[in-house]
Amino acid sequence: MKDETKLVVAGRSPETNFGIVNAPVYHASTILHSSLKELQQAHKDYTAGKQVVTYGRKGTPTTWSLENAVAEIEGGYRTQVFPSGLAACANAIQAFVKSGDHILVTDSVYAPTRSFCNNVLKRFGVETTYYDPLIGSGISELIRPNTTVVFTESPGSQTFELQDIPAIADVSHKHGCVVMMDNTWASPLFYKPFEHGVDVSIQAGTKYIVGHSDVMIGTVTTTKEHWQTLQAGAHEMGQTAGPDDVYLAQRGLRTLSVRLKQHMENGIKVAEWLKGQSQVHSVLHPALSDHPGHDLWKRDFLGASGLFSFRLNAVSMDAVAAFMDHLELFGMGYSWGGYESLVIYADPSSYRTATTWDNTNPLIRLHIGLEDTDDLIADLKDGFARLDAAK
Ligand SMILES: *Cc1c(COP(=O)(O)O)cnc(C)c1O
Repeated sequence: MKDETKLVVAGRSPETNFGIVNAPVYHASTILHSSLKELQQAHKDYTAGKQVVTYGRKGTPTTWSLENAVAEIEGGYRTQVFPSGLAACANAIQAFVKSGDHILVTDSVYAPTRSFCNNVLKRFGVETTYYDPLIGSGISELIRPNTTVVFTESPGSQTFELQDIPAIADVSHKHGCVVMMDNTWASPLFYKPFEHGVDVSIQAGTKYIVGHSDVMIGTVTTTKEHWQTLQAGAHEMGQTAGPDDVYLAQRGLRTLSVRLKQHMENGIKVAEWLKGQSQVHSVLHPALSDHPGHDLWKRDFLGASGLFSFRLNAVSMDAVAAFMDHLELFGMGYSWGGYESLVIYADPSSYRTATTWDNTNPLIRLHIGLEDTDDLIADLKDGFARLDAAK
């Protein structure tokens, strides 16, 4: 079955739900059983890995509908939902480490994941070393006897370096490390982490899976080998997600392919246009042929999403503000993956430690939504006129 078909059918079972197309929203904590024997059997089945209801936190047909669909489309064994993308990142890591361990994390990682490592993991005696996202198989030099996890994210969601995931995974596996990937940028549709050696794949479902900027949710999908560790870790930390949010996420997933293809097309159009503007120093979009990671993107990815950055020729922050402040179609705010266009300013030099980032050319990140690109480009054009006037 092709991915577009899987997105429609995976995780759905109208035949067991009175013909209802989407899995119903089950609000549940207590699950009643008719006898002690039945209750004990349910727990036994659950422990053996079956999807049976025992307690609301441990899953319902609502959560399975999303989890089973994500697992199938991302190409993993099983999936666990979390209340946010960050909860998914943090809990995926914590499930696989213990005091005294060392982990490797890409220097381009989502900043709150970095904060979790620097604060929470550190308190529990787990040491983090950040690595250059361009390191490839050179990561072997950073692996120590106590290194247990290698956490990748490709491309980085502000700076867009592509990582050679198969090379990193190959070396990491030789040293017994678990390879994780934050796969949010490409979504389960445009990158297949398990075909490239990843063991544990994370989605901030908040972004493209939900697609409408109104729900926080995360997913972690693993290989069969790593499933029990992940699931036990999640349950011990009390992780689940609310049924209404799970419902909206599974509904969003059904239209992911049409949305993402349009985000890709619109994003590339705007990125190409930006390249020709005198105010622009460079455009950081993996699908552009002059992007340093373009060859890796072509080799490993099935498409691009609508998120990329560009760098301005050196200007004052007042000029940056003049550009950003009065954009009409680009909302200024965090997150991305919804149907609408967004803009933020970012200074990667403020958090990088393994690599240096020169902030002479201010970095602006765009999320390109589903609006008409002529309108988006006209809006950006007005912004550049304001920037020129403020210089
Ligand atoms: C947004 C984001 C997250 C965190 O997701 P939340 O749902 O906002 O907690 C994690 N990784 C990446 C790459 C993100 O962009």
